[in-house]
Amino acid sequence: MNNLQQNYHEVCAKIADAVQAAAREPRSVHLVAVGKTFPAADIRALYAEGQRDFGENYIQEWSAKAKELADCREIVWHIIGQVQSNKTRLVAESAHWVHTIDRLKTAQRLSSQRPDTMPPLQVCIEVNIAAEANKHGVPPDEAVALACEVAKLPKLQVRGLMCVAEADAGEDALRRQFETMRQLLADLQAAGIAADVLSMGMSADMALAVECGATHVRIGSAIFGKRDYAV
Ligand SMILES: *Cc1c(COP(=O)(O)O)cnc(C)c1O
Repeated sequence: MNNLQQNYHEVCAKIADAVQAAAREPRSVHLVAVGKTFPAADIRALYAEGQRDFGENYIQEWSAKAKELADCREIVWHIIGQVQSNKTRLVAESAHWVHTIDRLKTAQRLSSQRPDTMPPLQVCIEVNIAAEANKHGVPPDEAVALACEVAKLPKLQVRGLMCVAEADAGEDALRRQFETMRQLLADLQAAGIAADVLSMGMSADMALAVECGATHVRIGSAIFGKRDYAV
């Protein structure tokens, strides 16, 4: 086994341990392998190991990789970065999920550009959970209202909420952020939206996120290694 495969299986085991420790259902947490800055060949290698959910941040980079990997028919592509207006069509025409909806305008474009022959795009509302100035996402108290508007769009299906927790927060602060997300999902459900997804937890905080109810953890560096943005 090479490093990539080994890392991958270690991450799978770590998630499984966290799921068990939290007394949750074995298949209740999905691993989204985040391949930004890494080549299509790495994704292909994980696909061969059985991984199907892949996350990408940069639309252009993703689109090139998706073309290279067109023969991997079962790949599920999760867009986890910002979608600029001039990129919505690419996303609408070939992604399966967008985790980062924080403006109604973007959602409207995605819905109108989603081909009728495709199933609805699965979307999450991104929440700026720690109100950080440099982060995307709606403030927590606006998440339910935006979700209800997005839910009216015909070719999008609101699945839940996503956040990137504060990078240097201690465990207590992180736990509060994740618990707030869990509460917001309950609020969303109470508002009549059949949402079931909490996309939260990255390499550094996946176990805590699982403990707090994450259904999708987005893991990059723990699988692929350290990113080099210079290349
Ligand atoms: C890069 C990225 C990840 C993965 O981060 P790691 O710390 O490498 O696991 C997850 N979510 C988002 C939104 C990202 O941009």
